[in-house]
Amino acid sequence: MGFEAANQPRVSVQPYILVVEDEEAIATLLQYNLEKEGCRVEICGDGEEALIRIDEKLPDLVVLDWMLPTVSGIEVCRRLRQRPATRNLPIIMLTARTEETDRVRGLEPGADDYVVKPFLMSELSARVRAVLRRIRPGLAEDSVRHGDIVIDRSAHRVRRGGKDVHLGPTEFRLLDYFMQHPGRVFSREQLLNAVWGSDVYVETRTVDVHIGRLRRALAGDESSDPIRTVRSAGYALDV
Ligand code: CA
Repeated sequence: MGFEAANQPRVSVQPYILVVEDEEAIATLLQYNLEKEGCRVEICGDGEEALIRIDEKLPDLVVLDWMLPTVSGIEVCRRLRQRPATRNLPIIMLTARTEETDRVRGLEPGADDYVVKPFLMSELSARVRAVLRRIRPGLAEDSVRHGDIVIDRSAHRVRRGGKDVHLGPTEFRLLDYFMQHPGRVFSREQLLNAVWGSDVYVETRTVDVHIGRLRRALAGDESSDPIRTVRSAGYALDV
């Protein structure tokens, strides 16, 4: 068995964007356009719910409207910045007026970028691309290197220290996800959501099984173990 997943959608490679906007027309337009750019997009129309969703599954980027029911966009932003797990989560804020924009700009630490409504979709897409390029430079590339590990997505091949590493489809997606966020610690739940998908029921213990296989495959006979176990937190890729 090996690379039979080559033709399956590569869930982990697609950037996941959460659009927090209660105006359905705008939310749908954003979703349509960002999906066309190759992103996976979910919509949430409520600030409180957005915080819960982000806790459950960490997005790569949040497009956050200022005016929202229950908890305002600015408050969502503030709370995300207070939590260690989301302190650096990229946020593009949508604001309606220039006074709001001034306040967003004045936030410390605030949104990464802001777009004033009404905006051109091409403008927002360009901002999203810029943020994604900055946080995940490997995203657009077929081949990504981290340390002595090289992952080639189109050929579905992995090499470490110049030697081929044979991985099953799940281990490949796991490694791909780690390679997009080197050094970052992921809980088992986060890995489940990112690699298996949130709509699939898999026990968290399954993650440990596949991490074990990935470890053994990467370590080979002489190489060091690149995956770090963080007690009661999860796993990270350190090379
Ligand atoms: Ca709104």
